[in-house]
Amino acid sequence: MSKPVGVFAVEARHGWNDLALEAAKECLKLPLRESDYDGPEELKYVPAIPYQRLAQYHYRCGEAGRGVCKSRHWIGEEWERKMYCSTCAPTPGLYWKNPAGIHVRVTHPIPPWFKGLLESMEEKFAVIPAPVDEPLLLMRAMDGVPNCPSCRGKVQGFLPEFLSATLPPKITSEIAKIELKFEL
Ligand SMILES: [Zn+2]
Repeated sequence: MSKPVGVFAVEARHGWNDLALEAAKECLKLPLRESDYDGPEELKYVPAIPYQRLAQYHYRCGEAGRGVCKSRHWIGEEWERKMYCSTCAPTPGLYWKNPAGIHVRVTHPIPPWFKGLLESMEEKFAVIPAPVDEPLLLMRAMDGVPNCPSCRGKVQGFLPEFLSATLPPKITSEIAKIELKFEL
């Protein structure tokens, strides 16, 4: 969609709220709230109230995206186990005794490079709250990986799936919960 801010304003003025919401989602790819971003060309035709509603929606979606990267609970045990590296993890995780009295590991701390990647995505979502560019993130993640064969194997084997098939649907589903207000 070209000129999504203008499309949003026109559709909102006509009360076509479902179409306006689609345009607003396109606007999430723009750094609308960055102080050094001049805004799109069509901004001079956009009334203040619809633009304020759009900026508010952009902010709330940004917070939702950041929350996904910050909470990490949704990542779940399966991914924790996949990313766990016994060489690089700072602590060995938590154990409890199973009914047979054997200690079983119940958490797998994620390696620092994976934590760092999620933290850098928190910052990214503050600016552009849209699902992410996977190759760029993959390259950024590679930079933070130590010279550890196990971690390098995880980046190659698991991270593309995480960045393309696991994270974007989670971001999209959290953004779908955000309401776009049209009324004053
Ligand atoms: Zn490692």
